[in-house]
Amino acid sequence: MTKLNDNYTKLASSYVFRQVNEKTAAFASEHPDLPIYKMGVGNTTRPLAPSVVAALHEAVDRLGSEATYTGYGDELGESYLREALADYYQTSYNVSLTAHEFVLSDGAKSDTANIASLFQPGSTVAVQDPVYPVYVESNVVLGNRIVYLPCVEENNFVPAPPNEPVDLIYLCSPNNPTGTVATKQQLQTLVDYARANDAIIIFDAAYSNFIRDESLPRSIFEIDGAKECAIEMGSFSKWAGFSGVRLAWTAIPQELKVDNVSLLERWRRRQLITYNGPSNIAQAGGLAVLSDIGQRECADIIDYYRVNAQLILSSLRSIGLTVYGGENSPYIWAKVPGSKSSWEFFDELLEHTQVVVTPGVGFGPEGEGFIRISAFASKETTKIAMQRINDYLATGS
Ligand code: PLP
Repeated sequence: MTKLNDNYTKLASSYVFRQVNEKTAAFASEHPDLPIYKMGVGNTTRPLAPSVVAALHEAVDRLGSEATYTGYGDELGESYLREALADYYQTSYNVSLTAHEFVLSDGAKSDTANIASLFQPGSTVAVQDPVYPVYVESNVVLGNRIVYLPCVEENNFVPAPPNEPVDLIYLCSPNNPTGTVATKQQLQTLVDYARANDAIIIFDAAYSNFIRDESLPRSIFEIDGAKECAIEMGSFSKWAGFSGVRLAWTAIPQELKVDNVSLLERWRRRQLITYNGPSNIAQAGGLAVLSDIGQRECADIIDYYRVNAQLILSSLRSIGLTVYGGENSPYIWAKVPGSKSSWEFFDELLEHTQVVVTPGVGFGPEGEGFIRISAFASKETTKIAMQRINDYLATGS
């Protein structure tokens, strides 16, 4: 008889963004005349860089001609793009990885979720709290045990190593949702813990291109010993506006082994079973992102969001709110004033200012009492939204 995987019933009943969307849609249908200012989600809004658009057009044109048409490519990603990523890691981070150690995919979301399938069901998995919900939910459905590592004001939102044995540790820096970035020393402590305790770190670097402070690490492999205990996921989504185009990578050092088995070879095997590789159009765009001009143009796009983040920080600070993140990240983590809960403050802002934020508690218990504000909206929306929040909180009107 067919049986379902009952672990699905253990998932929290509603993913935070779905709940936010439902509440926003209900408000909009009750007040069709009121504009809504969406400052909650981490979706990109700026158009693609011109050099990337040109490369995408050329890739489409190649598909339109019999002489240059290509169908299925390398399931693990085209070698030209994996070579370019290896060069990028060398030049930008002084990290030596070979093209073979990169596996391309359609997203860091799927990679961070799917990687758990390499490990024994029932593994113990440490996650930051608050956390990007994908790590938790993908491990819950596998029947894995979750250990929460509190990320609170007292530890600058960077976790201490677990105080019990764990098999996997998910780390995200710059962090979604707190917007904070782990220092080299903080990551070194976690890498040292992982090596000493035979744990594997899964490092999500989806926002690394927002880091402009040169002293902060942008890849886990900048940390001594990380190649023996860490896997890194990167993405073109937030870096180059590819959230709709879809392109990402997982980097696994050749020397990383569990029970003497190479995790790289296991991951390559896993991808070969389930996946036919990212779109050839997206990969041509990815190569353009990695070119000198592409990198410059994408940095300009990130600067646009960084200006928004500064505006949000200064605006909320000016009315006395306590805010974190936003300096090397597109997310601002703001403390809810008074003793209201995250959802109460969300409802209040929606009702009185029509600004939509994300309730911190949706990212985990330690997110209670915070909201996440995203810098990915347009400059105009960001300005109006901040003005409306300021007017409301300063005067109550
Ligand atoms: N990792 C983090 C921490 C994210 O916040 C997101 C998207 O918001 C992703 C990964 C998704 O990346 P991708 O678009 O490459 O699937």
